[in-house]
Amino acid sequence: MRLRNVKNKDEIMKSSPYLILNPKDYKGKWHEYFKNDHPIYIEVGMGKGDFIIENAIRYPDINFIGIEKFDSVIARALQKIPDSLPNLCMIRMDAIEIEEVFDHEIETLYLNFSDPWPKKRHTNRRLTSSVFLKRYDNLFKNDKVIIQKTDNQQLFEFSLVSLSEYGYTLQYVSLDYHHSGSEDIIMTEYERKFSEKGISIYRLVAVKKMSN
Ligand code: SAM
Repeated sequence: MRLRNVKNKDEIMKSSPYLILNPKDYKGKWHEYFKNDHPIYIEVGMGKGDFIIENAIRYPDINFIGIEKFDSVIARALQKIPDSLPNLCMIRMDAIEIEEVFDHEIETLYLNFSDPWPKKRHTNRRLTSSVFLKRYDNLFKNDKVIIQKTDNQQLFEFSLVSLSEYGYTLQYVSLDYHHSGSEDIIMTEYERKFSEKGISIYRLVAVKKMSN
């Protein structure tokens, strides 16, 4: 997601109580940050945050952490957070560093409309490449759960193969999620735009048992 430079982004980031400036200090201690033992769900590449914010509103007994690598984008997300959402925070970082921030403490990882990196030489940048799946290995508390939505068929096919080869079981696969009978879909910004144009949304839920 490219955004025109948000002029007051530094100010927004400095003044938001929801932005964690020192995420590595919380590694293994995120429950201390939230001051409870509720499950922690994270979204990598959250963009402007619609999905994670709405989840935090609907599910107060789950803690949500949104991760985004660009200042201007996360500044927009921070601006959208309504007053008092103690079960939400955001981190500005590249997911390449994710192992330095979490240690056996998350339950679910969301990947929504991740950049597809279509060129073969960029395969390792895809957030479901084996390089990233290895980075996710030590994040999870129990079974590893990755939930992906995308409009991009190539990325989706790549993810199905990559996750399966890495030992994940595909518990749910939809090639047209919005017409699958699912109710209460929480949409992302991209999802809303694509579905308004009649573009099908792919979704998968992949699980790797703790013992695997
Ligand atoms: N998830 C949002 C949605 O569905 O509307 C945004 C989708 S946008 C195509 C992908 C987002 O992921 C961008 O905001 C981009 O900056 C972010 N992103 C891509 N690679 C990332 C990485 N390695 N670490 C953190 N954020 C990343």
